[in-house]
Amino acid sequence: LFVDQPLGPDATILLDGPAAHYLTGVMRLKPGAPVKLFDDVSGEWLAEVRDVAKRSVTLGISAHLRPREAVPDLWLLAAPIKKGRIDWVAEKSCELGVARLMPVLTQRTIVDRLNLERLRAHMIEAAEQCGRTALPELHEPIKLDAALRDWPAGRALIFADENGGAPFIEAVKPGPAAILIGPEGGFTAEERAAIRALPQAVGVSLGPRILRADTAMAAAVSLWMAAAGD
Ligand code: SAM
Repeated sequence: LFVDQPLGPDATILLDGPAAHYLTGVMRLKPGAPVKLFDDVSGEWLAEVRDVAKRSVTLGISAHLRPREAVPDLWLLAAPIKKGRIDWVAEKSCELGVARLMPVLTQRTIVDRLNLERLRAHMIEAAEQCGRTALPELHEPIKLDAALRDWPAGRALIFADENGGAPFIEAVKPGPAAILIGPEGGFTAEERAAIRALPQAVGVSLGPRILRADTAMAAAVSLWMAAAGD
């Protein structure tokens, strides 16, 4: 279970809201029951239920189980797409091990408001479900031109281009990287030119078929993880 507070030896944790409801209402845990907790900083801890109240539960830490896992240095820059599909992308980014999810606003982005809290909740649920001890960092939405302007010198920008490029696997090099996926309507000619002008950018193909943006994200991240992730 993810807790948004620092964990450490001998810490006492007071949970309320959905987390308390999950432990006592859904799991029906009683005092003495063991619970695994992680805080996205110090790793995973074993805790024990100390006290159950109507709307809260108190836990005491008993042991450190494992440190926060190492996360492959891959960012995913994705243009927001409609609700259910971007939720899915948040969930899969976490499952597949992305270090940072960065929503990028492009000229053809049609979704202009993103509920970051909801996306984070999907990531947390995914991390809990697959036993992770780290969450992807969820970046504030950023305009594509601003992202390109401040692009870090040492990070490759793998631009998924449905108009063709190097086969994905051949374009992956060791080292920090980011994958850029366009919105449902794709990038404009002007945006494509700006992306390709960046020295760190490499245009890649995911095959001859045009994939939906969410499919392209999952395919590209999976391929990168297979080739370079650890
Ligand atoms: N511009 C296209 C159109 O409207 O016909 C479609 C864009 S596609 C639905 C959304 C994004 O997925 C693209 O901007 C690209 O980043 C990625 N994508 C889809 N198919 C791809 C492929 N075969 N190779 C590389 N990237 C792809």
